[in-house]
Amino acid sequence: MNQNSFEELRLTGQLPSPSGVGMQILRLTQGDDFSTEEIGQAISADSALTGRLLKLANSAESGSVEPVTTIGEATIRLGIRTVGNVALGLSLVSTSREGGCAAFDYDNYWSKSLARAVTSQGLSREFGKGVPAELYILGLLAGVGSLALASVHPDAYGEMLSQRTDEGFEEIEQAERERFQISHSEVAACILRDWGLPENFGDTVRDFERSWEADQVPTLSNQTEILRGADLIARILVANDDTSEAEYKDMAAKYEQLQTGSGLEPEAFQRLCSTVAAHWREWGKVLGIPTAGRIDFGNLEGRAAQAVARKEEQQGNGAAKATALAPRGGTSPDGAMHILAVDDDPSSLLLLKRHLVRAGHHVTTATNGEEALRLALEESPDLVVADWDMPELDGVNLCQALRKIASGQRIYFLLLTGVEGEEGILQAFESGVDDYVLKPFNPRILMARIHAGRRIIALQTELDRERRKQEKQNMELQVLTRKLRSAALTDPLTGLSNRRYAMKCMAQAWESSTRTKMPMSVIMMDIDFFKKVNDTYGHDAGDAVLRVTAKALQTSCRKDEDVCRIGGEEFIMICAGASGVEATAAAERLRKTIEAQSIPWKGVDHKVTMSLGVAERSDCMESPDDLLKSADQAVYVAKESGRNRVEVADASEPNANNAGPGLRESA
Ligand code: GH3
Ligand code: MG
Ligand code: MG
Repeated sequence: MNQNSFEELRLTGQLPSPSGVGMQILRLTQGDDFSTEEIGQAISADSALTGRLLKLANSAESGSVEPVTTIGEATIRLGIRTVGNVALGLSLVSTSREGGCAAFDYDNYWSKSLARAVTSQGLSREFGKGVPAELYILGLLAGVGSLALASVHPDAYGEMLSQRTDEGFEEIEQAERERFQISHSEVAACILRDWGLPENFGDTVRDFERSWEADQVPTLSNQTEILRGADLIARILVANDDTSEAEYKDMAAKYEQLQTGSGLEPEAFQRLCSTVAAHWREWGKVLGIPTAGRIDFGNLEGRAAQAVARKEEQQGNGAAKATALAPRGGTSPDGAMHILAVDDDPSSLLLLKRHLVRAGHHVTTATNGEEALRLALEESPDLVVADWDMPELDGVNLCQALRKIASGQRIYFLLLTGVEGEEGILQAFESGVDDYVLKPFNPRILMARIHAGRRIIALQTELDRERRKQEKQNMELQVLTRKLRSAALTDPLTGLSNRRYAMKCMAQAWESSTRTKMPMSVIMMDIDFFKKVNDTYGHDAGDAVLRVTAKALQTSCRKDEDVCRIGGEEFIMICAGASGVEATAAAERLRKTIEAQSIPWKGVDHKVTMSLGVAERSDCMESPDDLLKSADQAVYVAKESGRNRVEVADASEPNANNAGPGLRESA
């Protein structure tokens, strides 16, 4: 059912996704017959990507002597797989560097993802397990499920994040499933599959977090284990003053386990970690991702103690810690706006600021385009007034740069210009400015234009608010629909899928087997003498038997198997792609599980057994119903032959025994 939930997430159009170029490169590198030229061409279409790749090829990590200047050379130096993977990662970072979930720490997310990517690659290389370039991409994308949930459900996921304390992986997953019908690790697996990455990538991102819970010593012996180790190192790298004592202690214990599992001496392991940490810093610079953590692997216990001291000090200082940040986005009720004024001429800038402040606005100033760009990204002003003519990054280029970033697109941009010619003005509008005022400016005209801008900003803010409200309602509706749909297909007593779901599955499997000519089988199961349980111990005891049996069946299922409850004490397993022989082996496994299972009831352990009937689809069957009947008859034979056994339907004589279930009831 996860795939359905994922489809619904995808339909929102809010899932993180690499740029067009990133996707193209991904597709190219998934095949076997791509060339360096094709990759080079695709990358060259994105100048920012080209620049960053060259920077990377020339960084210390690649051990370069001669600088490379073309993508072709970079590809030779880094290897075609690395270039492809890096291009994908970079393009994803550029499209999802920030987003609308207030409680989601985007900086920390990317910082940790990058740390995990670089570490995964480093560990893979060091221990000779997995393909380093693939582990890089796995590390970078392993957390993409959380990013996706934050993008699709910014409010609900944000609320969950802010309520979350030190919960374990299973609890978090459970809470996510209850709320969104799918968990972050399942979303991640679906996304990776959706992008056409190898099937085992999906399995790895779904499983790597789980293994710590299983209390196994990490071994760094395969892809999943490497990712698991790298995730821990990444956690340590991004730990900061907000990290709790409990988290430090947990990391310290796991770090020691990891070092033991690696087979390296403590000093050698610490050296390895410090080397990857240095690479993380370097990559951070290339990608514009913060890498501010302390590289301090030897002293995690000490840092735990510091966390305690910090907390006590904070409590001592009292909780009242004023926040200096002004509210963001939109104009305030009195019409005051947050305006960024930019001019390289100090006296013009002062004059401009004076007029704006006098009109009641909150003003930040910058004396060049670069500084203005940085401030605009940090402070998200409502409006920018910028001089056109400035050295390096001029007003028009500043506007262009802002329009390329999501948060810069909503800023109202007013250009001050000494150029009156038609061409210049048109060029400015093409770059995305909203309005212009001629220099030297007439203060009354300038303020009138700002006033007009404020009206537009207010309208835009209102529209945004409405849109967000609408989106939130849509989302809630979708979640509700999903919950209802899932409830309609779930048996409330056991939590297994119900008869309706089973019949849908059956029809799908039948259709797919018709198309692919692959075999298919079903296993029908019926608890023996179940009525006696009810009659002897009561209906509640019967319910407990059903719940425990269902759980045991489910646990004994393999990844691609699914058991449904189709009647009172009757269950079915649809084995798509399985022959009768394979299904019989599975049935025998289930039978043994139930036979061995103890069912505690009022202090006494009870036991039940099951009779199972297996049937394989054969040429003389016309519909799924025929197959079901056949399996049902096999159950009947099992009952007749003494119960607690598996019987296989005779494929050459489908539905021969018309006595079937009717006779069984009267027996
Ligand atoms: P057999 O070995 O031939 O299968 O015998 P049986 O007693 O298991 O089979 P029978 O069909 O005679 O009895 C099934 C019983 O299951 C009858 C019904 O009251 C009981 N039952 C059906 N649904 C539930 C339920 O949800 N809870 C409980 N406690 N009992 C249920
Ligand atoms: Mg029955
Ligand atoms: Mg029965």
